[in-house]
Amino acid sequence: MHVGAPAPRPAWTPAEGAARVRSLFARTFGPTPEEVGVWSAPGRVNVVGEHTDYNAGLCLPVALEHRTFVALRPRDDDRVRLASAQEPGVRELDLADVAPGTVDGWPAYVAGVAWALREAGHPVRGFDAVVDSCVPYGAGLSSSAAIECAFAVALDDVAGLGLADDDAGRATLAAACVRAENEIAGAPTGGMDQSASLRCTAGHALLLDCRPGLSPADAATGVPFDLAAAGLALLVIDTRAEHQLVDGQYADRRRTCEEAAAALGLPHLRALADDDPGALDVALDKLTDDVARRRVRHVVTEIGRVREVVALVDAGLAHEIGPLLDASHASLRDDYEVSCRELDLAVEAARDAGALGARMTGGGFGGSAIALVRAADASRVGAAVVAAFAAAGLTAPDLLLATPSGPAGRTA
Ligand code: ADP
Ligand code: MG
Repeated sequence: MHVGAPAPRPAWTPAEGAARVRSLFARTFGPTPEEVGVWSAPGRVNVVGEHTDYNAGLCLPVALEHRTFVALRPRDDDRVRLASAQEPGVRELDLADVAPGTVDGWPAYVAGVAWALREAGHPVRGFDAVVDSCVPYGAGLSSSAAIECAFAVALDDVAGLGLADDDAGRATLAAACVRAENEIAGAPTGGMDQSASLRCTAGHALLLDCRPGLSPADAATGVPFDLAAAGLALLVIDTRAEHQLVDGQYADRRRTCEEAAAALGLPHLRALADDDPGALDVALDKLTDDVARRRVRHVVTEIGRVREVVALVDAGLAHEIGPLLDASHASLRDDYEVSCRELDLAVEAARDAGALGARMTGGGFGGSAIALVRAADASRVGAAVVAAFAAAGLTAPDLLLATPSGPAGRTA
């Protein structure tokens, strides 16, 4: 490592994650290692295409090496008992009681998945389970999808549903996880995170087309994205900035987009991105509200940037996507207004230290930024960002490297 650079937060190996949850399970529910399977699911980072998923747009996530692990033992009643290494205590609930608004706190992400699978007609029963994770919490790297998707593949497996066996089934599991997050956890997020965690493959990014009604095969395409082979690295900077009102801001952006689409007589803003290049200007002229105009401009130009990034990556030119990442950040900061001081600082410091491009990633108002760097520069760029945060009197950021990794599945 470069002198002064903090080591990037390592991912646990599958064996390490499995050992941790097995040990926690034994401490929580008693030693029954043979009956306890282990499943895991990755967090994700989005390369480009932010706030586009709920606009039927395009996005390009990669699954992280960092995963959430679940040890689970099925029950033959509807009781659920849960513990997490990241949360205090043991939580208990009955699946028959789960409905929107009934589950407080983190168990909503778990109970919601079981609830959504049952709503879809699958014979899911109760379980005893524990969770541990090396996905940073609330950092915009989707620890929420990681916990949902780890439980989705676990419940699929123990109920013998077979949905995780092919990509179409995984799309069904992802839809259940989205319902869990939207309706039981009460977070109005789009579908990118769950699709990434269930459907990404190692060495690839996942091009997601979020138009409703597409077949699973048309909605998700693996894009070879072997950063190491290209001599590149994707540095993730978790700013550890915590901001209030995040959920309200997200819902507000979503509503503005939906209202703008309705005002334009469109089913969703994606329709504008598929039209000829002049259509955006015509639409912007029709919108009277300046805020709505800027929100629409972000969404439509961002969908275009996803297309340009994929074209470059497909042509073996991943090292040329930096300016598109920079443009994405500017659009999110100025037009969509979801950046913050810490994210702007991370991006600027990374670029000043030689990153090829950098942008905030995830919903915004804190969370993480990404910087595309030459692999040999990763430590230097990381150290420069850490130094810039120290100079600004901010909490030290956490660093990790995004290695495009495989999807949720059985681990042990
Ligand atoms: P992000 O998905 O960006 O990490 P979210 O706010 O969407 O942030 O999700 C974080 C929430 O998900 C946590 O507050 C908690 O309720 C739940 N969660 C995620 N991982 C775990 C875990 N390992 N154990 C318990 N709850 C978890
Ligand atoms: Mg989340």
